[in-house]
Amino acid sequence: MRAVDILKRKRAGAELSREEIAFLVNGFTAGEIPDYQVSAFLMAVCLRGMSAEETVALTETMLRSGAILDFSDVSGPKIDKHSTGGVGDKTSLIIAPLAASAGAIVPMISGRGLGHSGGTLDKLESIPGFDVRLDEKRFHQVVSDIGFAMVGQTEAIAPADRKLYALRDVTATVESFPLITGSILSKKLAEGIEGLVLDVKVGSGAFMKTREDAETLARSMLSTAARMGTRAVVLLTDMSQPLGTHVGNALEVEESLAVLRGEGPSDLNRLCIRLTAHMLALGGIASSVEDGERRAQDALRSGRGLSKFLAMVRAQGGDPRIVDGGVLPRARAQKEVAAERAGFVAAIDTEMLGTAAMVLGAGREKVEDVIDPGAGLVVHGKLGDEVGKGEPLVTLHYNDPSRLLEAEEMVKKAYLVSDARRPSVPELILAVLEQ
Ligand code: URA
Repeated sequence: MRAVDILKRKRAGAELSREEIAFLVNGFTAGEIPDYQVSAFLMAVCLRGMSAEETVALTETMLRSGAILDFSDVSGPKIDKHSTGGVGDKTSLIIAPLAASAGAIVPMISGRGLGHSGGTLDKLESIPGFDVRLDEKRFHQVVSDIGFAMVGQTEAIAPADRKLYALRDVTATVESFPLITGSILSKKLAEGIEGLVLDVKVGSGAFMKTREDAETLARSMLSTAARMGTRAVVLLTDMSQPLGTHVGNALEVEESLAVLRGEGPSDLNRLCIRLTAHMLALGGIASSVEDGERRAQDALRSGRGLSKFLAMVRAQGGDPRIVDGGVLPRARAQKEVAAERAGFVAAIDTEMLGTAAMVLGAGREKVEDVIDPGAGLVVHGKLGDEVGKGEPLVTLHYNDPSRLLEAEEMVKKAYLVSDARRPSVPELILAVLEQ
């Protein structure tokens, strides 16, 4: 087999065989096929797409490029959730302990934030002492003891994805449904899970800006997971405004704790209950999604979810005193951005709001940038809210005043306040798609 012949076939729109895909991906991971040939392959996939069979072959090859974890000795269904990400999306910190306290086993491997979108690992690392780099043995131990653990991807998990993603990033080939499917599912299925709840976000703060694109990605992931023997369900959810109110790492941990105490904002609370309910239903712990909701509510109201979260924090070296406030990092300064006119919040450019938080230090522009855990923003004006002139829309939390002006301008630009009395506010949960 020669890489150049496979490239010619893909360029012409032919369907590649499982062997051809494995030849390219495994050869690249082993350092035997050069970047320039794989770049050409990625671009051909971007332009020509992939059939369902090709997408499965790609995902399986990427999955098998590394270790597949085995939690079969831990009793209980192994279920996880993945979100395509957005602004203020801290649901993992809430639903993993809720699901675990209702009997699910959640071996969660998460990622870092990039650009306007936050990452679970960065949020967890704002907890003093918290270690996201557990080795495989310790990860297994924490999952076994507590029912869940939250760690970063190790070298051993889907190494093909790490290499391919780095190349996609610099060859304008990130935006491809089969490549995204392979990337997300290879990492999640390496957790050795039986079921996966996918939260596919759509709107101005999401990776997928249109419902059509979000549905295409959702269908691709559902069918690929099904062909690989993993149960999955997709919730298409709104990201045309931040989820909850807090954006930034320690700020999002603070808000997650508020939800686990039963004091969180209603949109975030509702989505967390629904996601947990689907996890419990997929795992067979709940007899239906409604039953799952009851169990999730019970885990929340009883405080079991909060105790589980704190047990995991302790087990991963974090300071459990975060629950009393005080030990989470806080930015030294705050500044309110006020509405320049009275009216109703008609639209929020959520990507711009996320970028403003990044500019203040809450996120990374480049992979090597260092996060400021206390930086970020708190949203007061949500879609449809009535605001008076001079009333705060957002409070910026910052340590570095040199970035303040830029962030402030972005927040102002991100908000559209108009006279329209009832601006249309999208439903939070737009659809549930099944296999
Ligand atoms: N997230 C991933 O993990 N991979 C992609 O390709 C896109 C988003």
